[in-house]
Amino acid sequence: MSSEPFSSDLLKSRCLVHGQWACSVTGKTFSVNNPADGSLIGTVPDMVEDDFSDALDSSKEAFYYWKSSLASDRSAALKAWHAAIIANQDALARILTLEQGKPLRESRAEIRYAASFVEWYAEEAKRLNGEIIPPHQSSKRVLVLRQPVGVVAAITPWNFPAAMITRKVAPALAAGCTVVCKPAPQTPLTALALVELANRSGIPPGVFNVVTTTDAETFGRLVTENSLVSKISFTGSTAIGKKLMAACAQNVTRISLELGGNAPFIVFDDADVDSAIEGALLSKFRNAGQTCVCTNRFLVHRRISQEFASRLSLAVSNLKVGSGLDVNTDIGPLIDENALNKVETLLSEARSSGASVVCGGSRHSMGGNFFQPTVLAGVKPNMRIVQEEIFGPVAPILEFASEQEAIYMANSTRSGLAAYFYTRDFDRFWRVSEALEYGIVGHNTGLISTEIAPFGGVKESGLGREGSHHGILDYTELKYICAEVKREE
Ligand code: ADP
Repeated sequence: MSSEPFSSDLLKSRCLVHGQWACSVTGKTFSVNNPADGSLIGTVPDMVEDDFSDALDSSKEAFYYWKSSLASDRSAALKAWHAAIIANQDALARILTLEQGKPLRESRAEIRYAASFVEWYAEEAKRLNGEIIPPHQSSKRVLVLRQPVGVVAAITPWNFPAAMITRKVAPALAAGCTVVCKPAPQTPLTALALVELANRSGIPPGVFNVVTTTDAETFGRLVTENSLVSKISFTGSTAIGKKLMAACAQNVTRISLELGGNAPFIVFDDADVDSAIEGALLSKFRNAGQTCVCTNRFLVHRRISQEFASRLSLAVSNLKVGSGLDVNTDIGPLIDENALNKVETLLSEARSSGASVVCGGSRHSMGGNFFQPTVLAGVKPNMRIVQEEIFGPVAPILEFASEQEAIYMANSTRSGLAAYFYTRDFDRFWRVSEALEYGIVGHNTGLISTEIAPFGGVKESGLGREGSHHGILDYTELKYICAEVKREE
């Protein structure tokens, strides 16, 4: 682990509003701590309603000129931002690991993933075409314009402090919208570093503002009440997403939601077990199990479930737990004490209902926010550990006896974000892909996220899609123009 103090001109202690570094009107700040050891990394403004209003006014003002700027100019600004992120990826990855905890290797991958959205939408900005429709009457001409929705409020979580921001801000800016972003209070420093790079890249004042606060509720109330805001894009818990969606009804504000998941990982008895174990490690233990597409339950055919459990435990026992700054670390700390308590409670309930720990099973001897990667066998569908999102490094294994039963178990949830399945049977590939009630399906892979494909969930996992050419459409409105053309006299 590096013990040298880290300094970077990307580490900011103020917010960027209208191109200026701003404090809160109250002068109050809050601290950002390293989840690996609790040490102080920095402080940022604890903004309040007046500060949020200033940021919204700034974004409204910027919208008037940004919406009518040339698509090629918006594209060029995003390309410059992309280049700046890539040029500063090492510093950004370090800031990310310091405040979030994930291994540096994963932070680097996240920064490149975050940058990929900026590059992708720099390209898409130029392809936001309208339509000319063959008319319904000979004297009419029918045109459809795609126009930016307006000011967007983006609310982002702590588990992907960089990618969740660019996945919203890049398509919004490409479409001609302006954004006020409120990052999670646990991880505001990555957001401030990204907006600093946007500012350096020539993205004009007010087009992208970032406000930091511990009072998310007031921000949520303001952006749903204030008619300056045309759209909200939220990634976070299902409970808060539902509250925001209900509050959006008052102004009929558009909302995109990327909420919790309960991903099944189905291993059929014809699967390549080696590759299933590899996929299981990636889909379950990345970011210490703290992603919304993380596997939440392994459904394994009963003929191979014991073999799968013992091979998975062997692989899991080799994962190295430690500070994200240590190059050998595979699993960093959980984000906070609440996260640890939740994992412990779910585990102990499952054990007292008959589940058995195959490896791990408790807090790590390093103390702090570290938890042992764990494999749990004999899990039943009615246990809370497979009905709720664990958001920790615990792999519960359930058994099934037929394809029909596996699909039934997989779909028996109100969540519908990601699902994974392993089979070598081509007919089964089609049957299962079509039957899974999920927005994203991984076949023989545990890694599914990419900027080129539409990411999002069905049922209570959300509304709308991020990434791909679909991701920009949520930031646009269609306007149909019906024109009468007179015959020549
Ligand atoms: P988690 O429990 O994983 O932190 P949350 O849904 O609470 O998930 O947080 C996701 C994001 O939503 C964070 O930026 C958080 O500050 C913000 N948030 C939390 N409560 C509210 C709220 N009432 N209104 C708006 N945003 C909120």
